[in-house]
Amino acid sequence: MRDFSGDHRWLAVNGITVDRQGDLLAIVEACARLGIAAICPWRHQVAAVGLARAVRAIENADLALSGYCRAGMMVADADHRQEARDDNRRALDEAVALKAPCLVIVPGGLPQYSRPGSLPSKDLAAARAMVEEEVGALLEHARAAAMPLALEPLHPMLAADRGCVNSLGQALDICDRLDRGRTGALGVVVDVYHCWWDPALESQIDRAGAARLLAFHVSDWLVPTNHLLNDRGMMGDGVIDIPAIRGWMERAGYAGHAEVEIFSENWWRHPMEDVLRVSMERHRSAV
Ligand code: ZN
Repeated sequence: MRDFSGDHRWLAVNGITVDRQGDLLAIVEACARLGIAAICPWRHQVAAVGLARAVRAIENADLALSGYCRAGMMVADADHRQEARDDNRRALDEAVALKAPCLVIVPGGLPQYSRPGSLPSKDLAAARAMVEEEVGALLEHARAAAMPLALEPLHPMLAADRGCVNSLGQALDICDRLDRGRTGALGVVVDVYHCWWDPALESQIDRAGAARLLAFHVSDWLVPTNHLLNDRGMMGDGVIDIPAIRGWMERAGYAGHAEVEIFSENWWRHPMEDVLRVSMERHRSAV
């Protein structure tokens, strides 16, 4: 297992972690100044400054990308399905322009939350079937663009509104059906916050192997947790054995970044530089 205690070369910062503190240009500037080598911007952050400026700023700062967040929200009623497809095609084009190593897919839950305006449904099985169909459709374009898709299983508490793919095993089943040859075009994000509780996590990470393990997101599970989405902890402040999970990832062949992705009302109140410095410190001591 790689030793993270001496430096932070494998640290990446997901843009959401400091989303309220500044725009993408400010995030790029702060990361470059602190010697953080990689970021994962979000689409709304890129849109706010413009794609061309975002590309230029990232290039000028010599930052690598660990991913691009995110496409998805693919579950919709008939009237909104094309809109979702078009939107995901645009996300793919942006990921290519930004030279991201993969495009993260948060697939969406029930249609009324995934694509607001859609007719309500309680049919979770249909939502899951639609996710698979839509990932398959996007995958054709992704292959042509040489942009890997990274499907992110989400914690089951988010199944209704954000993601109805809820375990690594379920995500890998979809990968295996859509990409039998394990070509590298389709894989998964392992986010410790979403997956830590899963008794099959270790064996599913093994099953995924290097070809499917496209990204690794870190944060921590606080007890108690006060909000379903925006109460993630800084690594080391909660109950997830992050080094153990990283060990499983690396044993399976993962050699990429550990990306700090913290949705937190608490951390959003701290100055950007403080959050980044604590992330660097915890990357060395708790990841
Ligand atoms: Zn994540």
